[in-house]
Amino acid sequence: MRRSNSPVVKDLVLVGGGHAHVAVLRRFGMQPLLGLRLTLITRDLHTPYSGMLPGYLAGHYDYDACHIDLRPLAQLAGARLYHAEVEGLDLENRELRVAGRPAVPFDLLSINTGSRPRTLDVPGAAEHAIPVKPIDRFLDRWETLVARCLASRRPLRIGIVGGGAGGVEVALAAQYRLQRLLAERGEDPTRIRFALLTQGPEILPTHNSGVRSRFRRVLGERGIEVLTGHRVVAVTADALLAQDQAPVAVDAVLWVTSASAPDWPGAAGLAVTDEGFIRVDDHLRSVSHPEVFAAGDVAALPDPRPKSGVFAVRQGPVLTENLRRAATGRGLVPYRPQRRFLGLISTGDRYAVASRGGWSLEGAWLWRAKDWIDRRFMDRFNRLPPMPADQSAPALAAGIADREAIRELSTLAMRCGGCGAKVGSSVLTRVMQRLSAGTRADVLVGLDAPDDAAVLMVPPGKLLVQSVDYFRAFIDDAYTFGQIAANHALGDLYAMGAEPQSVLAIATVPYGRERVVEETLHDLMSGALAIVGPTGAVLAGGHSSEGAELAFGLTVNGLVDPGAVWRKGGLKPGDRLVLTKPLGTGTLFAADMRRLAKGRWIDTAIASMVLSSQAAAACLRRHGASACTDVTGFGLLGHLVEMTRASGVDAVLEIEAVPLLPGAAETVAAGILSSLQPQNLRLRRAVRDLECAARHPLYPLLFDPQTAGGLLAGVPAEHADACVAELRALGYGPAAVIGRIEATGNAAEPIAIE
Ligand SMILES: Cc1cc2nc3c(=O)[nH]c(=O)nc-3n(C[C@H](O)[C@H](O)[C@H](O)COP(=O)(O)OP(=O)(O)OC[C@H]3O[C@@H](n4cnc5c(N)ncnc54)[C@H](O)[C@@H]3O)c2cc1C
Repeated sequence: MRRSNSPVVKDLVLVGGGHAHVAVLRRFGMQPLLGLRLTLITRDLHTPYSGMLPGYLAGHYDYDACHIDLRPLAQLAGARLYHAEVEGLDLENRELRVAGRPAVPFDLLSINTGSRPRTLDVPGAAEHAIPVKPIDRFLDRWETLVARCLASRRPLRIGIVGGGAGGVEVALAAQYRLQRLLAERGEDPTRIRFALLTQGPEILPTHNSGVRSRFRRVLGERGIEVLTGHRVVAVTADALLAQDQAPVAVDAVLWVTSASAPDWPGAAGLAVTDEGFIRVDDHLRSVSHPEVFAAGDVAALPDPRPKSGVFAVRQGPVLTENLRRAATGRGLVPYRPQRRFLGLISTGDRYAVASRGGWSLEGAWLWRAKDWIDRRFMDRFNRLPPMPADQSAPALAAGIADREAIRELSTLAMRCGGCGAKVGSSVLTRVMQRLSAGTRADVLVGLDAPDDAAVLMVPPGKLLVQSVDYFRAFIDDAYTFGQIAANHALGDLYAMGAEPQSVLAIATVPYGRERVVEETLHDLMSGALAIVGPTGAVLAGGHSSEGAELAFGLTVNGLVDPGAVWRKGGLKPGDRLVLTKPLGTGTLFAADMRRLAKGRWIDTAIASMVLSSQAAAACLRRHGASACTDVTGFGLLGHLVEMTRASGVDAVLEIEAVPLLPGAAETVAAGILSSLQPQNLRLRRAVRDLECAARHPLYPLLFDPQTAGGLLAGVPAEHADACVAELRALGYGPAAVIGRIEATGNAAEPIAIE
């Protein structure tokens, strides 16, 4: 969430969480520029640090040791984090096209999206080779390859295409890891052989002859075949075909060739090189569009340098300074790339070769030095300084706002409350014009023909089910927040067995410039409609106002046949308790606020909250569910107690069977709990043999308040397994039977925990 309440004057959007942008985020975190809002759009939430990647392949580092978690870093910078892929750029309207969400406008844009090995121009490579980037996909496919190599008993040969530093390091690291694993299993470590193919006459063409001869020696000693003069022109399922050479038989191919650029910057009209890299001047600013900056592999400097993480890292501070200066209308500073730099290239076995200009050296101590340097670098990003205090007074950095912005903002201080706090009608009209609210025959007056209020018809033989929910944003992404809030509100309808008919929205958007308010409201409403639309319901009306912070809620209307209403009181002895989504959003977001949650944990939690419960409700009905509720603020135990009381039954909870979100057990173990937890804990008096139950490490999660949580239902025992199997097939992967219902016994407490 943004740390300051200064109004947004300009938007700086960072595309890609590359090696330069991590420095930009850290530096803006240490020294914010008031009035400048940062947004990071990134396809991956964890940036692998290139220097440690070969060590990870070799098995020297675990995942977290060599990845920078972008979520806490974005939080430090007060940046909005959009986990998404940029697909296009509209330079005229200054907005980015982003997969799965509304366009993202910008005043200043910085691109640090790296590069990928070139595969598309080689027939069969995309199908049969494993490209080293995108790195997360490479790492997954590498682990699959490791498992395949170990499972097979026959000799295998892995081809590595690319003889630069990346290819050589990958070959040596991959061989080291596989040979160790084979030796540990008592197998012949040489069963898996390696061949390194490169098109030129030499490996490591950008390094000096000393480095090359050291690596030729190492590769020879390690039995890795080096095939120079092999320009691979095609890849088949079992061979690499090189021009004018005999086919090279292989069982798997790792592709580590020279870098290629994404298409979208050139397609948008940015000046790019023949290969598609963004042409920048020595201020890292696009030579064609002054509002665009680029750094790292994707940028082409006037004086070209090798595509290497070292350069991207060095560009970070200059890029930050120039983004600051561009935002405040000051002159830019030049980036002066080093002519010579020290490269430490590892051989996979905790040994490295140093390369600088015409000089080289090798030794195990160089690997230890590299390891020390790399870990120290990672600490700068993974051990962040404590959260600075909130900026309570609205303030702006000098130079960021022009005269028009200052005039617009000066009226903010005098904005009225009450009706005067409404979002201006022109903003609202423009937002509604961009959205599709939907129509239905039983919504007689809706937003297609706006009036003072919506007029709804309850079709004959149906009942109207109503509920309302409203809460403050807990993530700085209005679109995703809109999706979650809509799911949270609709959960009440599904829990009653009703189908959504219509919704009315109530939104509070932070004060700001008109275009910022409009964009926030648009994102919020588009998110809500992305959930509401597919259910068949329509947006029939709403109210919006400006306030101190983003908040959103919906009144939801549903229809149900009188005989099909689910009540909390329908549980029957013998029923199995089925839960459709995992628990943990309360503790995870409490940790997130303190920057103690890993980005991938929060990402999974968001994915779970964005998942609609509509299909789950229909599935529970097909399997004869007798009673249902949605698990929200009172936590699993609170909602279960309500159900047992209303049904006059007891329940047995199998704590180990309760599905949990990744990271929830860790954050609870660290004592991080939602602020609502103490209130929920009061219901512990409903638990039998409390002392024993409370000793279980997962016990606190039974009280964890959920946002857009799953459905909890009683399902006849004979249908429970089939119901869970179907839920999982429908996309509710963690769905599980978590307990059973029993007739009321002698105990005063209705819940037993096993
Ligand atoms: C095996 C191997 C070993 C290497 N070893 C070294 C080494 O030891 N030292 C060294 O200096 N270099 C090394 N390199 C080179 C180095 O990896 C790259 O030069 C470096 O990663 C480039 O950094 P970057 O900041 O440009 O982008 P990256 O670090 O690649 O980051 C790109 C970011 O952009 C995101 N992204 C990409 N496309 C989009 C999109 N469309 N929308 C949103 N987000 C997007 C990605 O998710 C990622 O967060 C190695 C390369 C390989 C393959």
